[in-house]
Amino acid sequence: MTRHLPDENRPFPSRTRILATLGPATDDPEVLDRIVEAGARIFRLNFSHGGVEEHRRRIKAVRQLEQELGTPLAIMGDLPGPKIRVIQVPEGGIEVSPGEDVLFERSLDGACEPAAGDRPVRLSCTWQGMVDCVHPGQRVLINDGAIRLLATEVMDDSLLCRVTAGGLITSHKGVNLPDSKLDIEVPTDRDREMACWAIDHDVDLIAMSFVRAGEEVESLREVMRSHMGADCADRPLPIVAKIEVPQGVQKAQKIIAAADAVMVARGDLGVEMDLARVPIIQKRLLSLARALDRPCIVATQMLQSMIESPIPTRAEASDVAGAIFDGADAVMLSGETAVGAYPVVAVETMRRIGDEMENWMQAEGLSLDQSISLQLESHAQDDSQTLVAGIWSTAEASQARCIVVYSEWGTWSRLISRSTRPIPILAYTRRQKVVRQMLLCRGVTPEVMDVIPDEAVLTRDVQQRLHHAGWLEAGDAVLVVMGRPLESSINSTRMTVHRLVEEPELT
Ligand code: PEP
Repeated sequence: MTRHLPDENRPFPSRTRILATLGPATDDPEVLDRIVEAGARIFRLNFSHGGVEEHRRRIKAVRQLEQELGTPLAIMGDLPGPKIRVIQVPEGGIEVSPGEDVLFERSLDGACEPAAGDRPVRLSCTWQGMVDCVHPGQRVLINDGAIRLLATEVMDDSLLCRVTAGGLITSHKGVNLPDSKLDIEVPTDRDREMACWAIDHDVDLIAMSFVRAGEEVESLREVMRSHMGADCADRPLPIVAKIEVPQGVQKAQKIIAAADAVMVARGDLGVEMDLARVPIIQKRLLSLARALDRPCIVATQMLQSMIESPIPTRAEASDVAGAIFDGADAVMLSGETAVGAYPVVAVETMRRIGDEMENWMQAEGLSLDQSISLQLESHAQDDSQTLVAGIWSTAEASQARCIVVYSEWGTWSRLISRSTRPIPILAYTRRQKVVRQMLLCRGVTPEVMDVIPDEAVLTRDVQQRLHHAGWLEAGDAVLVVMGRPLESSINSTRMTVHRLVEEPELT
């Protein structure tokens, strides 16, 4: 294989994207500005917290910065999903100890109550169906699994549990039921409402929580489609399926195929499943996503200690680097940027770790091709993967310095970006929203091109642009891919190798 190594001294952009969660710690415009300068390009709004006014204000701040800097910035709305929470607990919380009984009641009038006399602790949560779905012997986990209970007896309107690991229960702590089959419809009513709100408020991607089946993804897409109306020229927002419960892991292939991207949501995953399995699940999901041509985000606790410290642990640095080595398209910061004391340093640190790993992979000629072999359900996917293999072998054989793609909806740039080979991909579209959505694909630098170009125009403009940016010198080759098919029913694309014979005149 010809090894193509772009010159390290040339200003190629970082390939792996940093996704930063917005929160109180990023509300200062200067902090947001510095986070973008440090390398974050995608911003997560966590719809589980805060009201729509807060989200609206944060969207406005990102859009203003995007305009000021002339750099595309994407916003991802993260739907709450059927997250179960403990309702109001009295001030100071309720301490529970191993061996103690706790009674979950279908609906409590007023707040949860501590034990009194013979009566055990009484709790209630946001989902009343819990008492019907949990059976004796199944686990009830509170506060990310820190407090653990075992169901012992089911009664008409309550569920008796025994504490196996104690702790302090405070208001709104999450409840996970990893052993129970939950009779909750996903997307929930709140998910539907917020997905439509996101469409109306200039959000670019939607993350769907607690997905258990491909049909749930399709159902959310249908909600968005009908909100947009039949004559709308746009497409529903791309759906990032968060894999975080055992059923989601089991059905991962179908879910990823139904979704537009996937997130390894390690927070809930580590509560719902044995922690020892999380690293394997992460590697498997990254491989599956690559085999199915979908971008993959690795999320949660990547630099967790940086919520309080300006320096991460060595293990966290290795975790970020490992995810990038395994092919993550984006690595996500949650509390580190949303509520942490060092949001800018956290992004800078993630960027430095990412750049080091990418440079090393480039220097060693390491790239990832799919490592899971799948029985693909459609020949169309087989065919497009064959075409992409042709594009990459041409790029390598011609020693192309860059692949330039024009594609209306970003499909071809996504397909080409499934290889982690170190050749940058410059992707054009005339749709601003698609530019932002393409930020999710590793190695893709997306830009708006106002008109649909013919190939001569595209080549001339691109050569000038790349030469100006220092990506291209006389003698260098560029591979130009026109992503529009010749006929919509045919899996086809057109590619041309252009060699820059002389310096282009700048217009
Ligand atoms: C997760 O569980 O890892 C995650 C990203 O979801 P959330 O932060 O919404 O719980």
